[in-house]
Amino acid sequence: MMTAHFTCKGCGSGIHVYPSLEAGIVKCEVCQQEQVVHFDQNHVEGILKDCPGCQRKDFYSQKDFNRKLGVIFFVIAAIISTVMLWKGMGPQWYLSTFIVLYAVDFFLFRRLNLIAICYKCEAIFRDVKNIDDIPGYDHEMHDRIVYSDHNFHGKPLDH
Ligand SMILES: [Zn+2]
Ligand SMILES: [Zn+2]
Repeated sequence: MMTAHFTCKGCGSGIHVYPSLEAGIVKCEVCQQEQVVHFDQNHVEGILKDCPGCQRKDFYSQKDFNRKLGVIFFVIAAIISTVMLWKGMGPQWYLSTFIVLYAVDFFLFRRLNLIAICYKCEAIFRDVKNIDDIPGYDHEMHDRIVYSDHNFHGKPLDH
């Protein structure tokens, strides 16, 4: 099932919701501010055409990469190699730790799912059925939508 993740306009906290036709308003659990959402039958079926947060049609897709996880891996590798160094093991041993962790990271990264993100309101959508129809991030589109309030109506920019 598709999930939607909105950003609270009041405090910036994440608001996590499942699409449903009855859900017209979502409430921030941190600051209690409410905001209007518009879910339709497509959303319930996992198809993303219109943003339930801002009614725009401009999205981009990206890998659901968890930056924190990457940092944790790096810290683990640093600790392991320090211990190895301290125990008097040769540099080939602690270098191999980094290689193994790099491989793990690469493997995880490749397996990550794609998510869709609304350019305008930065709502995040997971498990989107039509994710293959959503193009990757376009810097120019982002700038025109965010800074000039341009509306592309779901049509990607052609150069
Ligand atoms: Zn809030
Ligand atoms: Zn939006």
